[in-house]
Amino acid sequence: MPEPVNVARARRETPGCANVVHLNNAGAALAPIPVLEAVVEHLRLEARLGGYEAAAARAARIDAVYPSIARLIGCRPHEVAVVESATRAWDMAFYAMRFRPGDRILTSRAEYASNVIAFLQAAGRTGARVEVVEDDEHGQLSVADLQRRLDDDVKLVAVTHVPTQSGLVNPAAEIGRLTRAAGVPYLLDACQSVGQLPVDVGEIGCDMLSATGRKFLRGPRGTGFLYVSDRLIEKLEPPFLDLHAATWTGPQTYEIRSDARRFEAWETNCAAKIGLGVAVDYALGWGIEAIEERVTALAARLRHRLARIPGVSVQDRGRRLCGIVTFTVDGVPAAEVRQQLTAAGVNTSVSAIASARYDLGARGLPAVVRASVHYYNTDEDIERLCLALDSLAAV
Ligand SMILES: *Cc1c(COP(=O)(O)O)cnc(C)c1O
Repeated sequence: MPEPVNVARARRETPGCANVVHLNNAGAALAPIPVLEAVVEHLRLEARLGGYEAAAARAARIDAVYPSIARLIGCRPHEVAVVESATRAWDMAFYAMRFRPGDRILTSRAEYASNVIAFLQAAGRTGARVEVVEDDEHGQLSVADLQRRLDDDVKLVAVTHVPTQSGLVNPAAEIGRLTRAAGVPYLLDACQSVGQLPVDVGEIGCDMLSATGRKFLRGPRGTGFLYVSDRLIEKLEPPFLDLHAATWTGPQTYEIRSDARRFEAWETNCAAKIGLGVAVDYALGWGIEAIEERVTALAARLRHRLARIPGVSVQDRGRRLCGIVTFTVDGVPAAEVRQQLTAAGVNTSVSAIASARYDLGARGLPAVVRASVHYYNTDEDIERLCLALDSLAAV
């Protein structure tokens, strides 16, 4: 059993807890003081010394982000690229793949809109086809259906671990066992799982993984990272290159870096990058298993409490659930529910069909309200949300 999270300390170290009930951690979590201070300190240093000079003075701190991320996801530092968002991380991997007519890309119902838009663009350009693997009776990706579809024409399996629009945790490691056996590259969108659940690329068996800084990791906005396995790096040509990703070696020649940083650009927000490293270390300091335990338990209590409010329906499906809780209120559009909750001092968000058509479309849901908990949230926070809903549902 992991040492439980010391909630009082977590809240003391989270200034936002004094202002708001923040249940939008799947959107952007509240930054803890160490992250805030690291970012501000570097901005001040840049103002004092100059941007390049500040980067040189803090080179060791900036480089430390790679081993930190490697520790978090169980890979090696040279398999990590730090970029400005999860989408850019995912895109750099996806657009490095070469598809031909008839190639198949397998994905999940849970898939995020930006990923599907990229699949459709690539399919339109190359003649590849996109196939959605069915969900099983629990509402998670059907491993049996994936197995049926995996054959020689499949060039990529790209799925979402935890979707933006529900509490589902897809069976990432079972998917990895199948893709490994079939020798098919596996790209995992771990944007909503990293920081709230243990994510180990070795256990999962994915070849590429994308994540963001600002969600459950509590890092600064404008940060994300990509993991690419050693097995694949040299085979993936980044969709664009610069003088950091490659070296201009002669009048007509260049050489691409041999590590995952070939997916980065030279220019970067150094303050944010330092902040990301601090956020990762901070999460590791609590222990990811302790975080998962608290987040999952809080979310389960929230679902239980919501289910007892007349007119409120919990919409999460899946065998295994996480810290994202989604629901609808009879007769009240999700956007209006969110607005009322904001007025009551409770931050939530809305997942609308355009961000997850394969899933919300199939379930006939135009939108759901999303309340996503973190370990610094409390039972009182949950109660505040439910009391606000009680009065809303009673109208
Ligand atoms: C938020 C999200 C993304 C995009 O992350 P960015 O950092 O905004 O690019 C991708 N996939 C899922 C499942 C998400 O929830």
